[in-house]
Amino acid sequence: MRELKITPIRNGTVIDHIGNGLALDVLRILGVPPLERDTSVSVALHVRSGKLGWKDIVKVENIELSPRTVNAIALIAPTATISIIREFRVREKRAVDLPPKIVGVLRCPNLNCISNQSEPLESEFDVAERRPTVLKCVFCERRVDDFLHHLA
Ligand SMILES: [Zn+2]
Repeated sequence: MRELKITPIRNGTVIDHIGNGLALDVLRILGVPPLERDTSVSVALHVRSGKLGWKDIVKVENIELSPRTVNAIALIAPTATISIIREFRVREKRAVDLPPKIVGVLRCPNLNCISNQSEPLESEFDVAERRPTVLKCVFCERRVDDFLHHLA
């Protein structure tokens, strides 16, 4: 298939340049759209891409992503770009970018970490390394490089 046609969306978000095979992980981050919302999600797997070789694409109608969701996508799919579509036009397009601190997105894998105790304390990680990403818990210094299994 040389060119894949996905129906354009009127309003919503296109997550493009997702690494090949990572679209289902991105869907896990997005979760199931709330029933009351007029939303549909389309997914294209294994699309030819000049830059990446192969890529996946996820389109979500009528939803713009929260900063926390964008940070989670940046951890799982660091090559992704996010475009906001309004009235069929791209209003904003940018690469996902990890901020120096990741707050509330992941649970610390260290069960003894203070962020996992009963008192409400939001998890907080510093970006210790980039490409590939390694995070470090600010409370217990545990390093994390497997993000999918520790999403909060
Ligand atoms: Zn910790």
